[in-house]
Amino acid sequence: MSATKIHAVKGMNDLLPEQSGLWQRIEESARRTFGLYGFAEIRTPLVENTALFVRGIGEETDVVGKEMYTFVDRGGESLTLRPEGTAGAVRSYVEHSRHAVDPIQKWFYIGPMFRAEAPQKGRYRQFHQIGAELFGVSEPGADIELIAVVHRLLSAVGVKNVVLRLNSLGDAESRPAYREALVKHFEPHAARLADTDRRRLDKNPLRLLDSKDPVTVEIARGAPSTLEYLSPASKAHFEAVCAGLTAIGIPFEVDPRIVRGLDYYTRTTFEFVATSGLGSQATVAGGGRYDAMVAELGGPATPAIGFALGLERLALLLEGESPQVERPPVLFLGVLGDAAALPALKLAEEVRARGLPVELTLKPTGIAKQFKRADRLKARFAAVLGDGELASGSVKLKAMGTGEESLVPLVELASHLARATTPES
Ligand code: ATP
Ligand code: MG
Repeated sequence: MSATKIHAVKGMNDLLPEQSGLWQRIEESARRTFGLYGFAEIRTPLVENTALFVRGIGEETDVVGKEMYTFVDRGGESLTLRPEGTAGAVRSYVEHSRHAVDPIQKWFYIGPMFRAEAPQKGRYRQFHQIGAELFGVSEPGADIELIAVVHRLLSAVGVKNVVLRLNSLGDAESRPAYREALVKHFEPHAARLADTDRRRLDKNPLRLLDSKDPVTVEIARGAPSTLEYLSPASKAHFEAVCAGLTAIGIPFEVDPRIVRGLDYYTRTTFEFVATSGLGSQATVAGGGRYDAMVAELGGPATPAIGFALGLERLALLLEGESPQVERPPVLFLGVLGDAAALPALKLAEEVRARGLPVELTLKPTGIAKQFKRADRLKARFAAVLGDGELASGSVKLKAMGTGEESLVPLVELASHLARATTPES
């Protein structure tokens, strides 16, 4: 009788060794790209007080309204698995009075997020984001730099077929007039709206533009655009962002439908959307300015802008085109007979101490089988240590690519391999 299997939680996936190479390549590119712009890494907890997300993201959003993993902990407090990274970063900025250190802070993060959504391709319940926040700059230069980071990151990893869509939601000055126009547009159709969307019409009509309900989407098609209602200051800001992007050769399309899923955005919002390969989960990265949120969470009034990119969606886009990342051993060291086990272990450590990866046979089998494994792992060199080699003090080193063999004294094996793998200068 066998025990019943326990499966992973629905929508939460394992990343297997065959896949993690691509993820590491993306993450390394991201770290390097952030470094070029002076963004430093921040790591915040995966769990926060529920109130942080309710206040930071907004009650009427999909994320807070129906996607959060919220639970009461042993102390009776309501906690939530973080659904996104911005609220935690802002909490941290405020909690550590970062404005007093330097009001301009550039942070990036990489890590898992949790949302109770219907799992499908490109949409999971545990997923991963690479994101960044730039605090303390209200000037359009911040918007341009942040968008440039995302653009450079995408091209560094080799993504093609993405377009940048750009919009401005305006500011406190332009919001009331736009809100009024929006309500006027939706009100005649109120009876046809689903309950949540009818409630949004009263409480937060901007959210209607972000609704996924087909009826609302249809009505939203003819809705007025935020761009027609921008205050002079917001208009000038938007034009400066467009001019900056044009100056550095980043193409974009102005799209008044980009309102983004979170409540806190003001002025600039943007998305990088894949034109093929992701189906309806086509948005790879999104972001925007959230000038009111730091103060909303108890900090000094501090403008900020951020973005987040979905790692799974990016990996899906790259899977087809980029070859699998492999890290073959420089030396496959086989073992024949009990007496060779310890000397082989010591020899393997000597080679590793020089920074060269070694695959040591831990489960001795026949010599043919061991060479087969060396082949499968794509080792550059292979050698097998047995009684004969111990007695003579040297081993036959086989270059797996050419089949060429050379006799190398055991005491020189590590230095020999180090020389053989150093590129000639
Ligand atoms: P969508 O409209 O696709 O639900 P969103 O507006 O909820 O996206 P954000 O909260 O802005 O997305 O998150 C930024 C990015 O994180 C998205 O563009 C996407 O790449 C990724 N992302 C968001 N939710 C998920 C998820 N459930 N599974 C995988 N990736 C996700
Ligand atoms: Mg969503």
